[in-house]
Amino acid sequence: MFIDPFGRAITYLRISLTDRCNLRCVYCMPQEGLQWQSRASQLSAEEIARVVKSAARGGVTRVRLTGGEPLVHPHIVEIVRRIASIPAIEEVSLTTNAILLERLTQPLADAGLKRVNISLDSLDADKFRRITRGGDIDRVWRGIAAAERARLAPLKLNTVIVRGLNADELPALARLTMENDWHVRFIEVMPIGNAQDWGEGFPAPSERCVSVHEMKAQLETWNLEPETSPFGNGPARTYRIPNALGTIGFISPLGEHFCQNCNRLRLTSDGRLRSCLVIPNEISLRDALRSGQPLEPFFEQAIAQKPEHHDMLVATPADSQRGMSQIGG
Ligand code: SAM
Ligand code: SF4
Repeated sequence: MFIDPFGRAITYLRISLTDRCNLRCVYCMPQEGLQWQSRASQLSAEEIARVVKSAARGGVTRVRLTGGEPLVHPHIVEIVRRIASIPAIEEVSLTTNAILLERLTQPLADAGLKRVNISLDSLDADKFRRITRGGDIDRVWRGIAAAERARLAPLKLNTVIVRGLNADELPALARLTMENDWHVRFIEVMPIGNAQDWGEGFPAPSERCVSVHEMKAQLETWNLEPETSPFGNGPARTYRIPNALGTIGFISPLGEHFCQNCNRLRLTSDGRLRSCLVIPNEISLRDALRSGQPLEPFFEQAIAQKPEHHDMLVATPADSQRGMSQIGG
């Protein structure tokens, strides 16, 4: 079993399939000037499956595919099928912007995908287009409807809250849970790879972050009830508007540590194991994979490097080397 130096069992692997994306969300990627990883440097479907088999031997039971945008990967369905067919893997899920979800939902569900988290930062079509630099919100809604039809549940919606951009939409987004059995999660914007100017009309770096504390205060009149059994074992603190079908979560990577329950390891699309989103240490297993060496020692090494907790304000330079799309958000 993979147990880290602080006694935490590592059972969850997040895999970034690609650093590429069909959107350019202002807080995640610059509009242009990104250096894409070469296809040759990225792991193939077969290589990814071998990594997951090795992780499964160490006790990993759940895998989430992310990116960049996992649905732009040409072999996404095959990757899901290969991972889902590994007996020890109980759940394969993915995080997506849903732009390509409508037509891929059924093939993915047939391949063994269990759940999707969908990023949606605004309910307003024009604002959504501005935040994502060109995204069509109607495609996201069609993707959500398709995911519901395919019972990829419970559906989670991720919303990164940015002051002066979409913070005013907190109540409207929270209200979605009244009628829908969805888990809407509000996320503090992290200063990872996005310190540059986002363009005219967007907030300056020092103004962007709305704390979870402020977000909750904005919903104070709703009498949110804490949930005793939040579904999923993610980092969100979970609440429910009285009598609502769905729940609301708050994720605060900056303010409140969720590190004590951290059970995850990350694999970047160029084959590096990363033990923490924030701490930049990475261990490449690509060469070992390609030369047929056993991968377990690399997992052991990465897990041994897992920090007890990150102190983001201290450990992360304001603009870290790798952006969220490269690490796998
Ligand atoms: N493209 C997919 C998507 O957007 O859902 C998956 C990759 S994206 C990097 C994963 C998640 O990270 C998204 O929910 C996105 O909103 C979030 N994210 C990206 N940059 C972030 C940042 N600087 N702070 C907080 N969350 C961020
Ligand atoms: Fe693409 Fe997701 Fe980053 Fe937006 S948050 S640019 S959709 S990877």
